[in-house]
Amino acid sequence: MQTCDVLIVGGGPAGSSCARQLVRSGMDVMVMDKAIFPRDKVCAGWITPAVVEALQLDIAEYDMSNVIQPITSFRTGMINGSEVETHYPDTVSYGIRRFELDDYLLQRSAARLYLGQPLKSLVREGDQWIVNDAITTPMLVGAGGHFCPVARHMGAQLGADEPIIAAKEIEFKMSPEQFDDCRVLGDMPELYFCKDLKGYGWCFSKGSYLNIGLGREDNHGLSDQLSQFCDFLKQRGRIPQDIPENFHGHAYLLHGHAVRKQVADGILLVGDAAGLAYPQSGEGILPAVESGLMAAATIIEAAGDYSNARLQPYSTKLNERFGTVSTSAGFAPQFVRYFVAETLLKNKWFTRHVVLDRWFLHARQAPLYAR
Ligand SMILES: Cc1cc2nc3c(=O)[nH]c(=O)nc-3n(C[C@H](O)[C@H](O)[C@H](O)COP(=O)(O)OP(=O)(O)OC[C@H]3O[C@@H](n4cnc5c(N)ncnc54)[C@H](O)[C@@H]3O)c2cc1C
Repeated sequence: MQTCDVLIVGGGPAGSSCARQLVRSGMDVMVMDKAIFPRDKVCAGWITPAVVEALQLDIAEYDMSNVIQPITSFRTGMINGSEVETHYPDTVSYGIRRFELDDYLLQRSAARLYLGQPLKSLVREGDQWIVNDAITTPMLVGAGGHFCPVARHMGAQLGADEPIIAAKEIEFKMSPEQFDDCRVLGDMPELYFCKDLKGYGWCFSKGSYLNIGLGREDNHGLSDQLSQFCDFLKQRGRIPQDIPENFHGHAYLLHGHAVRKQVADGILLVGDAAGLAYPQSGEGILPAVESGLMAAATIIEAAGDYSNARLQPYSTKLNERFGTVSTSAGFAPQFVRYFVAETLLKNKWFTRHVVLDRWFLHARQAPLYAR
């Protein structure tokens, strides 16, 4: 039987951020993940500067062996509708590959890694958790994403009653011919909303990689919507005609759409396991990193008393940052959805100040962690 001060289940951005902070405070931390890293994660790979700040990412150092594409413009519109270009004077986001970023962050955390190990059993004995009959720990962090087994243990109805975002994505290395045929620019990703505004498709070019996907509030007709979106991109000459067809699907929760318990005796949930992605954009990496750091701060402050009551400040921190469940809006606010969507998305002012600055870039939200 191995022991550790904190066991983190899941080595994505939420788990690795939490791990790094705890290791730096001198704790003995293990991260277990069912995957062996580097591993793929279904994601567009868009991060804002707030993520770079919260992660204390050294762009120049990261850029030496990984893809990090600065973004200064966007092309937006409705699928099969007109398009608007919005340009910024500076870098407002980055495109990364999750295959690279997640591995980089996990290795950097300096935690003990227990990879290729799915969580199979979780038993409470006194004030200890016993995991897979192999590890004993007083403190467990559930960072296993939407289908996190620790969230399930806490009563989350995974895949049942929860109103999910369903998405499909592909990321592939373009051949030289495909690269020549691709009109999507690295510094200008493209976003196109579905007619009913229940979701949007995206197309990101990062170095020689192309990432295409579509996410919706419901998964009815997701495959049809995705193929219509790809046809639209091809007809407009945005992407090569011969893209691969093996899109991968995933589901996750938006903050406010479902309520998961985040705290229990000796447990905190972070990132997608807690259902924290931004409701307007579906961005989940920033809430994953920030919640991981908040969880680490709460664990350090608890100083060994991991009772539910002592860990409650974590919930308060989450509510202060992301709002309480009742204050969250939908995935594109209703008033836009049902009235003048098409007209507004042709409007340059609305696209810049509302769609991009407010919904996607959170331009008015102060960074939680700044260097
Ligand atoms: C199609 C799509 C596109 C997206 N695009 C963006 C984007 O561009 N920008 C953005 O900010 N967000 C995006 N998101 C959301 C973002 O991917 C997530 O919010 C983010 O990955 C959450 O991080 P996490 O660390 O909580 O979970 P994850 O990154 O999902 O990591 C969870 C880890 O837990 C492990 N795990 C799961 N089950 C077990 C188990 N039983 N035992 C052990 N380990 C387990 C997994 O292997 C995984 O490594 C997108 C999501 C989707 C589906």
